[in-house]
Amino acid sequence: MKKAHLLAEVLHKVGLTRGLNVFWGRDRLTVLAYHRIIEWDTPEFRDYEPVVSATPAMFEQQMTFVAEHFNVIDLAALQAYLFDNKPLPERPLLITFDDGYLDNYQNAYPVLKKHGFPAVIFLVTSRMDDPARLWWDVCGYAFRATRKNSAALPYIGQQPLASAAERRAARELLMLHLKHIPDEQKQAEMQQLCAALDVSLPADERLFVTWDQVRELVANGIACQPHTVTHPIMTRVSYDEQKRQLTEARARIIDETGQKADAFAYPNGAPGDYDAATLRALRETGYSTAFTLTSGPMSSSAARRHPLQIKRVYLGYRDSFEVFALKTMGLEAFIDRAPFVPGEH
Ligand SMILES: [Zn+2]
Repeated sequence: MKKAHLLAEVLHKVGLTRGLNVFWGRDRLTVLAYHRIIEWDTPEFRDYEPVVSATPAMFEQQMTFVAEHFNVIDLAALQAYLFDNKPLPERPLLITFDDGYLDNYQNAYPVLKKHGFPAVIFLVTSRMDDPARLWWDVCGYAFRATRKNSAALPYIGQQPLASAAERRAARELLMLHLKHIPDEQKQAEMQQLCAALDVSLPADERLFVTWDQVRELVANGIACQPHTVTHPIMTRVSYDEQKRQLTEARARIIDETGQKADAFAYPNGAPGDYDAATLRALRETGYSTAFTLTSGPMSSSAARRHPLQIKRVYLGYRDSFEVFALKTMGLEAFIDRAPFVPGEH
């Protein structure tokens, strides 16, 4: 990881960031994909750190970079461009957050406010009522909280757990196996995991925003849009279930906020995580716009042709400032030009 950071620093210094800026031009659409904004390298942090995108200090630095190089737009401006032929400013950039973590409200929102930046938060709507951990954070918590030096775990058998490195290795191995398990089963598997690790989850902890906070965010330029009810990967559930997730999440947000809710972010968002049937389900349930986690930016005209597959820049907790700058200027999208899933229209 250190090497990658050094390389990024060198590439940034020799002007690759500027070169990418020229390569992508003025009418590219950049959409940043954040999850959590929180200090993760502390004893107080007890969840799954790979879901963190930046510390509050890093986020502040990143927003300053954004202010210098981009014109931040809101969802309405993007949709006016996509569907009503309205112009976008040069180098438009949309800031998005997935899942609806409480730290978006506590740590990101004040920084956005300071810069006058609008944004979008994609909510897992079941979490506003039941703010407990989703399965990946249960996994994160259980491996941090356990006092066991070894344990027999579901799927991966007996594992050493004496050191932080061993606990992390076991966690990653288990998460690899869980990738192939249907989502509704995962939450149940987590109970087994907690039993095997002799851990009980704190009952009264809130990890996600409340509906009152959602209303405050919406009133202050932060659109809150659906990210399903329970966060299944769409291609792992039936067509009917996809439609139920889309319909219920959308209806709930409209009901709670009165704003329109026709933009979606795919859970996981990689090419195999949605398909032509998902695109159809989106159209049939009233969505016009959807965001993937395929590397962006993309040309604005490509976004107009593929409004259900808008690419984003995925930001990670280990990104140095230089990595952030290179990603945001489009290094990953330059290297990896992922094709679109057919069936958009
Ligand atoms: Zn998500």
